[in-house]
Parts: sequence; structure tokens; C-alpha cells
Amino acid sequence: MTDSTAVPMLEVEDVVHRYGTVTALSHVSLSALKGEFLTILGSSGSGKTTMLRVISGLERPTSVRRLRIGGVDVAHLPAAKRNCTTVFQSYALFPHMNVIENVAYGLRIRKMNSTDALREAHRALGMVQLDSKADRRISQLSGGERQRVALARAVVTQPSILLLDEPLGALDERLREDMQIELVELQRTLGMTFIYITHSQEEALTMSDRVVLMSHGRIVQSGGPLDLFDRPNSRFAAGFMGYENILQARLIGREGDLGLVEFPGGLRLQGLITAPALDTGTPVHLAIRAERISALAPDAPEGIAARITSRVYRGKYTDISLDTPAGPLRMRSWHGAQDESREIRRIGWSTNDAVIFAVD
Ligand code: ADP
Ligand code: MG
Repeated sequence: MTDSTAVPMLEVEDVVHRYGTVTALSHVSLSALKGEFLTILGSSGSGKTTMLRVISGLERPTSVRRLRIGGVDVAHLPAAKRNCTTVFQSYALFPHMNVIENVAYGLRIRKMNSTDALREAHRALGMVQLDSKADRRISQLSGGERQRVALARAVVTQPSILLLDEPLGALDERLREDMQIELVELQRTLGMTFIYITHSQEEALTMSDRVVLMSHGRIVQSGGPLDLFDRPNSRFAAGFMGYENILQARLIGREGDLGLVEFPGGLRLQGLITAPALDTGTPVHLAIRAERISALAPDAPEGIAARITSRVYRGKYTDISLDTPAGPLRMRSWHGAQDESREIRRIGWSTNDAVIFAVD
């Protein structure tokens, strides 16, 4: 977690990068504190890797107003002088060296004597639970173990910032979940700034202190995991964060963050306004997660009328499609097999779970 002294470790202001006619980064600014776990989240092609390459110095941006690491202007420094290391999805280990030699390599080229280098390398391997395999050849390791070696090799030189470009992408799901937890623990132990790239919203939410959501070379929204999960402020962010229901309405009143919207048929509902500058009268979306919708008693005074149009049993839960005066809605019910016969005539949700933002 970030401490109160809040030292900026990374400051990037207004970076633009073009590959020929493709604009990969369009006026992006971001910063990370010392010891912060910052995740850049976005679908393929949104500019995440380009951002990391600009930070690490592998790519010279078309323009940038400010690029600082640890308070030092690095915009004109070569990659080797920036004190940050990148871990890639492909492990990029040396196959002709064994595990410990791979990890010690970065220290040896920095001219550390071999006794010290081996000691530091063993310590780094210990942090990733791999010291017992120090003498193995790389070809004798599993994918997860190779990625641990790559991590140990990256942190052993104690960079100011560790850049991770979808490092768990090649691993299967179970292993990926375990490694997510281990990575966060490693980051906490080291107190190192991590800039982590992923296209998985779940991974971003699990691991990060702060998340930056990118689309088409721009930052769409940034904040803590809960801000992005519960308070998306655009259609893109809500869709990316998995909101199943994004309805069309019109804002007819607001009191602070609380908004009142009206649907084409006249139905009125409340929700939380997540995009501050929204005037009464404008077309808006009201978004609600399927799992936040509950069935109410048919005669409940609150809520809205609903009629089931289909249901899909998915084991742990059932996805139910509904017809309502707000439009078609999806709800997710956790009653298991009981759902097969359950009638639903009225539904509702907590006002806090419905978010309201502008139509793009
Ligand atoms: P991400 O990592 O989010 O998938 P990238 O940063 O790799 O996105 O790519 C952003 C955009 O820039 C994409 O449209 C991609 O096709 C383009 N791009 C990336 N690298 C190059 C390159 N070397 N030459 C031309 N276009 C590139
Ligand atoms: Mg990429």
C-alpha cells in the first residue's frame, strides 16, 4: 500500500506515440507512487505495451511533456540508464544457463563479484519459492517456474520500477490465480513500484492499488479497483467491467450524486451519477450488474414489474432474461436448480448499485 509521504516514482505527462499513421498513445498522462501497484488495463491494441516501452526506453515517443523516474528526467536517457526492468509474457531466459546463472546474470554484468551475486540470486530465488531448483536447467522447468525465474532475475537488480507486460498470460487459469497472489505478496515485500499490464479486469481488480483503463490509446478512467468495478463513468468502462445491463434513459433530475432518470415508457428510477458534469435533460445510460438484481414479492411497493423470457442454468447460478418497463434486463440468480420453476414478477436493486453516466 502507498504510504502518506507519497513519493512519485513515475511521472508521465502528455505522451503521444505514433507508428506511421497509427496513433498508439494519444495524450496520455499517468503517475505511480513509490511502492504502488499500478495496473494498466485494456483490450488488445489499446496501447498498453507501447506505454510500457515508452517508460522503459525501448520506444522513443513522438512527443512527451515530461517523463520522470524517481524525480529524474529520463526522457533522453537510454533504456539501460532508466533503472527499470521489464518482465514479459515470454520468459526470455537464457536456455544455456541454469536457473541460478540466469538470475545472477544481471548482477554479473554490473560487475558484482561472484560470491555476492550468487548470494543475492539465491535470495531472489527464495522470494519466488524456487531456491530448491537453483541448479536446474531452464528446459527442466514448468511454465510457472520459468516465469518465477524471470521475476527473480528482474527483481534481483533492485530496479526502481518493475514493468510487467501480461506476465501471467501464458499460464493456465489455476496457476495464474496462484501467481496473482504471489506477485502481490512479492511486491509488498519488496516495496517496489510495479506497473502491471493486463487485459483481464478480474486480474486488475485482484492485484492493484490503482487501475488505469485504456481504450484506443487514451485513458478512459482511473481509480481504485472498487471505483472501476462499482462506479464506471462511461459506456465503455461499464461494458469492459462486465455490466450486463446498460439501459437508455434521460436524466430528469439530480441532487448531488443522486440522479433520477426516465425511460421512454415513463418509468422513473434512481441511481448514482458517476460522471459529474451531467445536466438535467441529457440522454444517459443507467447500468446495473445482473447479480445485483433481486426478485421481489409480486405485491412489493418498490421495484419494477418483470416477466421472464428465458433462463439458462449455468451450474452455480442461473442467468435469467427479463422483459421490464426499463427494457430487457439480465439477472443472475444463485438459487441453483430451484430456479427452474421459480416465477419472477417483480424485481429491484439498491440505488447504490445503479450507475448513471452520459451517452457517448
Ligand atoms: P496493447 O499492448 O494494448 O495490445 P500495443 O501498444 O501493442 O497495444 O499497440 C497499440 C497500437 O499500436 C495497435 O494498434 C498496434 O497495432 C499498433 N502497433 C504496436 N506496435 C507497432 C509497431 N511496431 N508498428 C506499427 N504499429 C504498431
Ligand atoms: Mg501488449
